[in-house]
Amino acid sequence: MDRGPRIRVGVQKSGRLTENSLDLLHRCGLVYSRAPDQLICYGENMPLDILLVRDDDIPGLVSEGSCQLGIAGLNVVEEQRLERQQGGEEANVEVLLELGVGQCRLALAAPEGVPYEGVHSLQGRRVATSYPYLLGNFLRENQVQAEIVVMSGAIEIAPKLGKADFICDLVSTGSTLAANHLRETQTILESQSVLLRRNLPLEPESEAWIQRLVRRMDGVLQVRESKYIMLHAPRSALKAITDLLPGSEAPTVMPLEGRPDKVAVHAVCPEAVFWETLEALQNAGATSLLVLPVEKMLA
Ligand code: ATP
Ligand code: ZN
Repeated sequence: MDRGPRIRVGVQKSGRLTENSLDLLHRCGLVYSRAPDQLICYGENMPLDILLVRDDDIPGLVSEGSCQLGIAGLNVVEEQRLERQQGGEEANVEVLLELGVGQCRLALAAPEGVPYEGVHSLQGRRVATSYPYLLGNFLRENQVQAEIVVMSGAIEIAPKLGKADFICDLVSTGSTLAANHLRETQTILESQSVLLRRNLPLEPESEAWIQRLVRRMDGVLQVRESKYIMLHAPRSALKAITDLLPGSEAPTVMPLEGRPDKVAVHAVCPEAVFWETLEALQNAGATSLLVLPVEKMLA
């Protein structure tokens, strides 16, 4: 193992983003050991270590340079960017990749029976949230004055407690809102988990490793849904069959020994392949259909 500079990547210690983040790093080839209660996992085959922290600490650690990379929700990243900006500080973080997991939205919700006819319904009312900067920004942009009630958790019970008239909270399925007799009215921010870096240059070796990791992550994200399809097609139906292959650009077409009327078609499909698609291919004349998962891909 080389003794050059090491890269520290901040990952949520325990929560919704932990498993996905660690799995992604593992798929990028990182081998590390993780002992219980250990806060740093040392990479064994790359100069990359994982720092396990609260998700809210990740943008700050990256901005200050304690971590060179981090994985966090865009909601936390944007909230802290606004907070730093308004405090006159520079937020030295840059989003390198959207990771397509941890999807949720920061949304406004109203108690059942309370009318909401658009942002102006918030005028002069109280809104509970743990995202005062994102909410404040949204209210300002819409020229609405409302009182922001900052809470650190259990936002959804604020109306019942008489602490607020509306709430602004993270929603994914909406079941928590429904259970608390709230209805979602408007989205303020669409969020997902992202890879962050400090936007100041590092040593060339570190920069090269970061580039390499980003390329690998990109590859992992591309193949997540991808499938490799193999089938036999009558030459006469080749056009119809390749048109049915989901999202595939240029399939490989090969002759079949002793069958001048048929060809073999192989294609990488960058999206999920459903039974309906296979049935449509079969109806168009395809036989010997085989769908395989794709493990790695480099463009
Ligand atoms: P920590 O102890 O690390 O501060 P936490 O309670 O803030 O944990 P989690 O509930 O694990 O964090 O959420 C982490 C991130 O997961 C959120 O910031 C958000 O980006 C994402 N997320 C996805 N769906 C949801 C959801 N339904 N509710 C809350 N967060 C969600
Ligand atoms: Zn948190």
